[in-house]
Amino acid sequence: MALRFDPSHTDVAVALKRSRIDGYGVFAGEAIASGRRLGLLTGESITVAEARRRAQAGGRLMLVELSPARAIDASRSQDAMRFTNHSCAPNARIQVEHGEISFLALRDIATGEELTVDYGLTHHDGRLACHCGAPSCRHWL
Ligand SMILES: [Zn+2]
Repeated sequence: MALRFDPSHTDVAVALKRSRIDGYGVFAGEAIASGRRLGLLTGESITVAEARRRAQAGGRLMLVELSPARAIDASRSQDAMRFTNHSCAPNARIQVEHGEISFLALRDIATGEELTVDYGLTHHDGRLACHCGAPSCRHWL
């Protein structure tokens, strides 16, 4: 299955490729300056209660909480950023503002580097092993 995505939601050139961290990842297709917006993540708007229910049901999900009440389920999104893997030493971060989820570069990123964010606290509650490979790896998500 070819991984296609909506290029109108990415601000930089990216490629989706197999990642040594987990499954597929998002890779920089150009050199990216620190602070630059990488792209948007959109999806189905749901309640946090529904997000928790879906997380309990399991599977490969991309859920982002917007507020104590609302969440976005990007699991079936057409946006490349939904493939962004976790790293304990990330080169990007998620910003939630006005109900919009954007990804921003935390430092200069070289062409070919995998884009990563720190998922922080997840619905895995510390039961998912981390394979990010960073010296500062916390080992569990
Ligand atoms: Zn890690």
